[in-house]
Amino acid sequence: MQERSARFGRAAWIAAAAFAILPPAIGGTQAHAAPSAVPLELTPTRISERVYFFRGESGVASASNRGYIANAGFVVTGDGVVVFDSLGSPVLGDAMIRAIRRVTRQPVRRLIISHYHADHFYGAQSFKAIGAEIWAGEKGKAYLESDLALQRMQERRRDLAPDVDARTRLVPADRWLAFPGEKPIRFAMGNTHFRVIDVGGAHSPEDLMLFVEEDRVLFAGDLFFTGRIPYVGNADSRAWLAALDKMAPLHPKVVLPGHGDLSTDPEKDAALTRDYLTYLRAKMGAAARDLSDFDEAYRTTDWSRFASYPAFEQGNRLNAYGTYLLMQGESLDIK
Ligand SMILES: [Zn+2]
Repeated sequence: MQERSARFGRAAWIAAAAFAILPPAIGGTQAHAAPSAVPLELTPTRISERVYFFRGESGVASASNRGYIANAGFVVTGDGVVVFDSLGSPVLGDAMIRAIRRVTRQPVRRLIISHYHADHFYGAQSFKAIGAEIWAGEKGKAYLESDLALQRMQERRRDLAPDVDARTRLVPADRWLAFPGEKPIRFAMGNTHFRVIDVGGAHSPEDLMLFVEEDRVLFAGDLFFTGRIPYVGNADSRAWLAALDKMAPLHPKVVLPGHGDLSTDPEKDAALTRDYLTYLRAKMGAAARDLSDFDEAYRTTDWSRFASYPAFEQGNRLNAYGTYLLMQGESLDIK
């Protein structure tokens, strides 16, 4: 009881202090009926001769991080710029464009969207407005027409106001990509050759990766995690393992993931994700086939191989549960 009131006292003091140090500008914008978004500055990191990287913060989208929770990047080709992902609001999209213009005067010709999750593409309208051609996997079309897409937009208008507001739109691709025979789509711009690789069905129906051949840099979207336990959620780990198989023969020097740190040792990082997914599938698959209870299966599984990696505590139980449900489906062959 005593500890509880002490804790309350400290929390109240912190809240009061935080309120006291609020800059007047923030209090001021709250008074307006329709506050307009304050511009942001983003600083990209140069990764290789042609490739630049924007590294988002860790965590969930909130007003305090302004939805900058994903990564993105761009490639300066000699005859235009190719952008990969557009971050989580038009304000972030505008900030990316200003940052690109500080690096090069070449026009932004193309935006490639890894997948249609809010944190990766709500900046797309900024690129559309400057004439970039937008490419995305064709299965993203169904998402844009879904109730889920509208629901997510409502949430973000609430959580990220005024950066995401009534003027923020769900922007379709100008070219919806299909991959007959699962062959990559190759294109060249300036002095640079690219491969767009279909890894759809793993994290979302429309996942794409982009490989920059000359620099051997791979933009991997949400299928690659550096030095940590991956976020699995309701991903299809069978398709994910197949995606890792497609990545390996590229031998990228650097992998730029959709969240978190870049990787300069992609084989090692991919091996951790592969081992982890394979282990989850084996253990949770056996439990699902035996009709064992999830809690019991989780408790009796030896997690020691993975327990010391970052994000294990936060993610493992949910990852295991998602895999348990997936394996139930696979064992009943209803997938
Ligand atoms: Zn995602």
